[in-house]
Amino acid sequence: MKKIKFFLLIVVAICITVGCHQQPKAKYVFYFIGDGMGLGQRTAAEMYLSAMDEQIGQKTLLMDSLPIQGFASTYSANSYVTCSAAAGTALATGTKTKNGMLGMDSDTAILQTIAEKAKAQGKAIGIITTVMLNHATPGAFYAHQSNRDQFEDIKNWMLKSDFDYFAGGQIYIKEHEKMQNVPAELKEAGYFVATNREEMNQMVPEQNKWVLIGDDLDSTNSSIKFVMDRKENAIGLVDMLQKAIELLTPKDQGFFIMIEGGKIDFAAHVNDGASVVHEVLELDDAVRVALDFYKKHPKETLIVVTADHETGGLTMGNRTMKYKMFPEKLAEQKHTVNYLYYNNDTLLSQLKAEEDLYSFVQSMSFSHPLSFSGKDSLDIFKAYQKFVETHNSEKLPDAAIKILNREVGFGWTTGKHTGTPVPVSAIGVGAEQFSGMYDNTDIPKRIEKIMQLK
Ligand SMILES: [Zn+2]
Repeated sequence: MKKIKFFLLIVVAICITVGCHQQPKAKYVFYFIGDGMGLGQRTAAEMYLSAMDEQIGQKTLLMDSLPIQGFASTYSANSYVTCSAAAGTALATGTKTKNGMLGMDSDTAILQTIAEKAKAQGKAIGIITTVMLNHATPGAFYAHQSNRDQFEDIKNWMLKSDFDYFAGGQIYIKEHEKMQNVPAELKEAGYFVATNREEMNQMVPEQNKWVLIGDDLDSTNSSIKFVMDRKENAIGLVDMLQKAIELLTPKDQGFFIMIEGGKIDFAAHVNDGASVVHEVLELDDAVRVALDFYKKHPKETLIVVTADHETGGLTMGNRTMKYKMFPEKLAEQKHTVNYLYYNNDTLLSQLKAEEDLYSFVQSMSFSHPLSFSGKDSLDIFKAYQKFVETHNSEKLPDAAIKILNREVGFGWTTGKHTGTPVPVSAIGVGAEQFSGMYDNTDIPKRIEKIMQLK
């Protein structure tokens, strides 16, 4: 009897020291959010890759090839169709809230975010986005505001967060003078601020806290330019994530990094399929960076890739094209429709007669011949009339992009978000918990468990 007791004691002692009942724990977490990236957006990107390879169905995104795949519902507390603030809050806190609200529940009670919990327990925190750093999705991880448009207050939450690394577009404030003060405020808060590649290369682990702002920004909203419009070698998602890994890995408690492909949503709002594809591909390139890290730390890393909602109701197939799709036509488009809104003055000045309208629409973006229907002619003529009367030329690129998207075979149902579930992909420690169908609020709860946050 004594011998058995002694044996049990030894087993318990070994369990305590070695931790034989301990669950594996994620020390490093990559949380990817494609804003507006539903199944349609992912499929469109895969079709484009396959078409470039001239083989139907042969190419897969890296995110779609991860071993665990699931789906998450996206409704908010007050609508079947969520906005990015409510969805961001769900993905950051595990609680539903009303559209427009950030980091608060429907009764405006402040919710602690997964990033704040991780920070409190010694993790290094990175927040990366292609849009403004105080926009809804990044803001959902550090801000608590009942109105997502209160950019100045969201900026103040950002400064107070003490998070280790921010990278993305500019910090946006409506009043120009206040926006100009932000870099000084960041420095005062202890951040090393970089706004170009040279300064980015000067960012080193010894500096403690960092803000990296992209070097090719959209002049209208301060986000990082769309991939299709960006200058060569501009700072993008891959650079921002590589830098995060370089700076945060030396911190000994591990890290939590949120990476948002924010402009998938912007492109989908204007139903610009080619731009959606290029933004999804950029996010997928960033997933590759995380996967390379995972391969070096497979027992301590978790990668989750999901979306806050779908945008545009994008589907593969439409009434005109029926069973045909030509994703290769996307390669003909050289700029986003957004770029054309602001950069078509030269083209317009060459427009001398209404008869030139077709060639005008053609020349805006596409090198391949478009086939116009009677309805298209009417749309284009109306857009031209609007331009003549008001000098607002935005409708002309819209008309052109609509024709191209139809010819590719895309179907768009809206210029807003939709309420369909979004895909979730995962690999690494605890990844198996993300298979199946669940709610978006379950995602941060499961990540917290895998990180063993209290
Ligand atoms: Zn949106």
